[in-house]
Amino acid sequence: MVAIDRYSRQTLFGPIGKEGQERLHASRVTIIGCGALGTVLANNLCRAGIGHLVIADRDYIELNNLQRQILFDEDDITRRLPKAIAAAEKLRRINSDTIIEPLVEDINADGIESLVQDTDLVLDATDNFETRYLLNDVCVKYARPWIYSGVIASYGVTMNIVPGDTPCLRCVFPEIPLPGTTPTCDTAGVLNGIVGAISGVASTEALKILLKSEKMSRAMFWMDVWENTCERIELPRQADCFTCGQHSYEFLDALSGTNSTNLCGRDAVQVRNGRRGIVLNLAELAERLRPVGEVSYNDFLLRFNVDTYELTVFPDARAIIKGTDDEQVARSVYARYIGM
Ligand SMILES: [Zn+2]
Repeated sequence: MVAIDRYSRQTLFGPIGKEGQERLHASRVTIIGCGALGTVLANNLCRAGIGHLVIADRDYIELNNLQRQILFDEDDITRRLPKAIAAAEKLRRINSDTIIEPLVEDINADGIESLVQDTDLVLDATDNFETRYLLNDVCVKYARPWIYSGVIASYGVTMNIVPGDTPCLRCVFPEIPLPGTTPTCDTAGVLNGIVGAISGVASTEALKILLKSEKMSRAMFWMDVWENTCERIELPRQADCFTCGQHSYEFLDALSGTNSTNLCGRDAVQVRNGRRGIVLNLAELAERLRPVGEVSYNDFLLRFNVDTYELTVFPDARAIIKGTDDEQVARSVYARYIGM
């Protein structure tokens, strides 16, 4: 039973009401990425009383995140917590009505299909187009709505994608931008105000989608909080769209290959072990690495400093290698200390 009092300011709002609140409580939302957008979206939706939130993120918290990633604090950095775990801790303190399911995972991995199938709505809070095109493929394949959002510098964009109804990501952008051709937070910075503004629009659209409101936006919303501009861009569906027209899912089909990803602008590369279903014993790994470098670990990750590299290793054998942007170098560092 939902404690209605907690949501009185929301149930007083006619289009939601008590019935809508019950519906939100019965809903399941998956947030992919728990950085700037992800923390604000999760915060808004948890407080709004979504019954079940899945939060997937592959990364750990760094000091420069605190300027905009509202669920984290300095203590989380000292404790070396992965983002999904730290977010889940905060959210559980905010609203014990909401079931929070943190996943410390790279979304370019097995499991994306069941993750999407199990949810009512997916929110994109990633920082890369590769994952967005993958999400678009999977959400169109399983007819699940998702909301595309992105922020950079002082501007941002958000768009609802309801398969079979609105245009999909590839109707709007048929080709994925080449790496290095679009600005990123790491190259152009980002203001926390635009994060809040875009997340505010996207989390409200999320409520509308879950409540099947006819007020759901069917346009791309774009705004710049520094230049004082905002725009709603109506876009058509493309009948010959690769994804929603022809049902060809090339990003999903291409999944298996990659085992390293350059984390743009961070001087870091993520390396994934090709073998599935591995669970590393971090304590044993720490013992093995102690003679060659500085090592520490907790329940969620192991940190290892050697030469000029910093390796963060997760129990699924995934590692983020800081100190290089060269995938070959990162893979060889991984092979040397973790083993392929
Ligand atoms: Zn399409």
